[in-house]
Amino acid sequence: MTKKLLDSFGRSINYLRLSVTDKCNLNCFYCRSDPGRCTVENTDEEELTVDDYRQIGEVAVALGISRIRLTGGEPLLRADIVEIVAAVAGIKGMDDVSLTTNGMLLEKMSEELAAAGLKRVNISLDSLDEINFKQITQGGRLKSTLTGIKCAFNAGLGPVKLNVVLLKGINDHEIEKFIRLTIDRDLHVRFIEYMPTAGQQGNWSDYFLDLNRVLEIARSVAPLQEVQGEHGGGPARYYSLQGAVGKIGLISPLSRHFCASCNRLRVTADGRLKPCLFSDAEVDLRSALGDVEQLKIKFREAVALRTDPRFAASNSHERSVQLQEKRSMFQIGG
Ligand code: SAM
Ligand code: SF4
Repeated sequence: MTKKLLDSFGRSINYLRLSVTDKCNLNCFYCRSDPGRCTVENTDEEELTVDDYRQIGEVAVALGISRIRLTGGEPLLRADIVEIVAAVAGIKGMDDVSLTTNGMLLEKMSEELAAAGLKRVNISLDSLDEINFKQITQGGRLKSTLTGIKCAFNAGLGPVKLNVVLLKGINDHEIEKFIRLTIDRDLHVRFIEYMPTAGQQGNWSDYFLDLNRVLEIARSVAPLQEVQGEHGGGPARYYSLQGAVGKIGLISPLSRHFCASCNRLRVTADGRLKPCLFSDAEVDLRSALGDVEQLKIKFREAVALRTDPRFAASNSHERSVQLQEKRSMFQIGG
């Protein structure tokens, strides 16, 4: 019989996001304003080890989780990322291991990651214009991410999903260009609402744009139909332009929350289990590493702390105030 991890509100949790580092080789202004850009490094003492991830993955699967996404920071900066992928992909009962990346290092690593058991990648790409891309990422090269996308395709890491954080006055003039990418490519272009995590509260309303703008523009390009969502459930609503090969996804945590169907837990790079993105509650996993029963207790503790979905405001501004998160996205993993 399939195991089920249920929270107090009847939601089934089958998905875990593991942040494997809080280092990054980009500084997207809406996520991370660290003066330093990181390069590939050996694991530092604060980060969990390959074996720690194996233990966490095994306990998660034993409790009912079957899908893991590796994220960061930039997960490909971990010198041992291929070993981490292999460790979690090798767990019996793990159906799907995916990864979210800025794509800069995919040219070098796609084949190796696929061979280690990685199934799919989501790649962040907030602009198709070289100068705009450089400004948003504070120094990144568009060409590296575009090459990374091609390499991910060639390595079979599809369907490739592109994540675009929609930023008013910054990349909203590129919505149509992004949408048109789906016409003849099997890409899922997913627009994400900008969330005011730590440090961003001050400028959030300057950049926040409701995703209805994407639908308006898409309808002006071609007739649009709502299509089936993600395999295994997920926060995106999907649409397709008439005759298009790819899909357009909308992820609206603020204007149209999806708390009632939230199926996930998160582990931060410093080993804390987060029950809800909109709450600052955390459960320390580190102290339980090495003890399967203790790890299970910690998971159950986190599940018991999941927020009541009825608590979620349905208007973007009220919802933005409910985001109590004190960490930035690069520390949580998105
Ligand atoms: N470095 C990888 C990347 O950029 O894909 C993985 C980590 S990043 C934190 C994960 C996702 O979070 C990215 O798609 C990123 O665009 C998104 N993100 C970061 N800060 C955000 C914010 N304030 N609001 C909405 N999405 C955010
Ligand atoms: Fe780095 Fe990703 Fe955050 Fe950009 S969004 S700064 S690539 S962690």
